[in-house]
Amino acid sequence: MLDIRIERTTTPKELPKADNPLKFGTIFTDHMFLMNYETGKGWHDARIVPYQSLCLDPSAMVFHYGQEMFEGLKAYKTEEGRTLLFRPNKNIERANQSNRRLCIPEIPEEDFLDALKAIVKTDEAWIPTKPGTSLYIRPFVIATDPYLGVRPSDTYLFIIILSPVGAYYPEGLDPVKIWIEDEYVRAVRGGIGEAKTGGNYVASLKSQVKAHQEGYSQVLWLDGVERKYIEEVGAMNIFFKIDGTVITPQLNGSILPGVTRDSVINLCKAWGLPVEERKISIDEIYEAYKNGKLEEIFGTGTAAVISPVKELRWENHIMQVGDGQIGEYSQKFYDTITGLQLGKIQDTFNWTV
Ligand code: PMP
Repeated sequence: MLDIRIERTTTPKELPKADNPLKFGTIFTDHMFLMNYETGKGWHDARIVPYQSLCLDPSAMVFHYGQEMFEGLKAYKTEEGRTLLFRPNKNIERANQSNRRLCIPEIPEEDFLDALKAIVKTDEAWIPTKPGTSLYIRPFVIATDPYLGVRPSDTYLFIIILSPVGAYYPEGLDPVKIWIEDEYVRAVRGGIGEAKTGGNYVASLKSQVKAHQEGYSQVLWLDGVERKYIEEVGAMNIFFKIDGTVITPQLNGSILPGVTRDSVINLCKAWGLPVEERKISIDEIYEAYKNGKLEEIFGTGTAAVISPVKELRWENHIMQVGDGQIGEYSQKFYDTITGLQLGKIQDTFNWTV
């Protein structure tokens, strides 16, 4: 058991009212988890303290060289009042994969899980219960050496903050419009695309702004070399249902290995629905569209769980999918995954903790 010192706030904030729409990522709970790292000393001083600003040296390396990792997962309250985490071990595993790629010291898995449980328990009263809401958990590590010069830091801070959230997209489960980026790229093989780190997201901003201006919710990235193969969306992996088969790009080093993606693949296998992880080109999608075989498109991610796509814009082509309605399987994956997360469906996968 990780030894965690707990200092409770003496000035608790007012909990959001039941009718608060909980705009994603805007409200933070009363406490946060912190743990320090120092070369030679390892991870130490695990503590939960009142949510507050950080005091960092302006030369802290994270500000200059971006050495940081983050994660995202959710806690849910069941009807019986139990608190559930969804596949936290997958996030912990991915956090350490990111850490290895970014030269950040790994966090012992057990300690990570203890920290998640402890902070969620401390602020359990903040877990919203209205349908479609949950408590978003944001663990992250930042490099804190006060030093200018490019090398791995010798000191780090591991932090977990919590945010009660509603739908990620203002559209909720309503189908979204996605813009295929053909000018900029997000990541290249051998780069940091498969790590969850700020650099990948800052690389995406310019395209996202352009897509928004054109009335699209998010950007779909093509591969960084040939600009031909589908990679992923801004904060989601992507699935296509073509002629009865569910297809998603294979993990190739530049795509984030999504936990929701893995869950959908497992559900397909359990349901006997053909599923393929492979390279898929934009030309193949366009061909399938023209032949009337492009049945469904949906994104997968912790924030929105399943996000049906009603329109893909690629250069001058506009592909409209499924009459703008939520696809049969998009709905089924959404219902099943959220059912498991909320403890409404028997968890034969042992995914909830
Ligand atoms: N791709 C990117 C770039 C993301 O930021 C996310 C969100 N973490 C995903 C995919 C989906 O991953 P997950 O299902 O683990 O949330």
